[in-house]
Amino acid sequence: MQAHAWTPAEVSSLYELDRTHWLHPQGDLGAAPGAVPQLMFSHGRGATLTDVHGRTYVDAMASLWNVNVGYGQDSLAEAAAEQMRALPFSSAYGGFGHGPGARLAARLAELAPGDLQVTFFASGGAEANDTAYKLARLHSRLRGEPGRVKIVSRMRDYHGLTYGATSATGLPAFWKDFEPLAPGFLHAPAPDPYRHEADPDGRSAGAAYAAALEQVILDAGPATVAAVVAEPVQGAGGVIVPPDDYFPLVREICDRHGVLLIADEVITGFGRTGRWFGLQHWDVAPDMMIFAKGVTSGYLPLSGVVLTTEVHEVLKSLHGALPHGFTYSGHPVACAVALRNLDILEEEDLVARAAEMGARLLAGLERLRRHDIVGHVRGLGLLSPPLVISAEQVDRVVDVLDRAIGRVAAEV
Ligand code: PMP
Repeated sequence: MQAHAWTPAEVSSLYELDRTHWLHPQGDLGAAPGAVPQLMFSHGRGATLTDVHGRTYVDAMASLWNVNVGYGQDSLAEAAAEQMRALPFSSAYGGFGHGPGARLAARLAELAPGDLQVTFFASGGAEANDTAYKLARLHSRLRGEPGRVKIVSRMRDYHGLTYGATSATGLPAFWKDFEPLAPGFLHAPAPDPYRHEADPDGRSAGAAYAAALEQVILDAGPATVAAVVAEPVQGAGGVIVPPDDYFPLVREICDRHGVLLIADEVITGFGRTGRWFGLQHWDVAPDMMIFAKGVTSGYLPLSGVVLTTEVHEVLKSLHGALPHGFTYSGHPVACAVALRNLDILEEEDLVARAAEMGARLLAGLERLRRHDIVGHVRGLGLLSPPLVISAEQVDRVVDVLDRAIGRVAAEV
């Protein structure tokens, strides 16, 4: 589609409207007018975005790590239009449902690891996190253990910014102005191999971090803990890839103490790490899996929690209406777009491509170690860019970073 050509007057008027009327998520409230560069995009194609001035950028962040299939996938627009014409919305409460929701839930059951079979839908990652914590507590109650309410996450985890998700998030910058936070949330250390101090007992970094997480459970009293929630690779907290032995040990610890393991695959899901889901790198199956972002590649908001049959069976013993849900749980248009998006991931073989291009990106980034100010290089698959990024674009990202780091290094 041909983009609208903006005149300079239109652009400055848009900027003015934006500054005056739009309170941006994570916007800089204290910034002097004009101090924060404004950037508005008008259209995108593949791994590139074009701004209202007509400048084109390689989007190495996939916007918010979510545009997995890239921009300009017309068949997603067509899937949305077709579903909007047929049935733009209908309730999914109680016994109501629709084709796209049922088909997507079944498709997720096929793709998800282990015995994850049953999906609860929401719209954003934070809503899905809050849902998972609530379902974990309900699960404890129905198992006859109402005292199991605590949720253990890790420092530097990001789970979203509703109250529950803020409380699980392990980044204090998001806590300080909003306290009191929700009670019952505990934090173990981030499993960061780079910052690991040699272990006096000679344990591997993964074993030491897993033991530290177990210690949090032991200190809380294992019979008070409902679940551990963890990002397979910590994203917003610094792209921390855990040591290989960490998650298998965390799985064992959860089993030992009767605690559910909840994987927050909001970033790592749908091919981003070079596997369909992040925990598959370590052959670990969670009891619940939270997804969002890549399920629709951001073309519409959709998220959810996939439960194992075992967890679902326990929840079924409630024998009544689930006292939880959102108006847009299972929005039919978002579900139709997700189904088409999953087809694109398969048709374009994007999961394998993420592994291949990810290896190229990591090899390129390794060369940046030549700058003294680069302490560590890490990644897994294509953690940030659209999975359709080309080899030339990957090389350009590395080249631009190399020059930018060089300039910063010259100033310090
Ligand atoms: N979990 C993870 C791992 C995330 O990265 C994010 C968002 N970046 C969220 C949850 C929250 O998602 P949302 O912003 O859609 O609420």
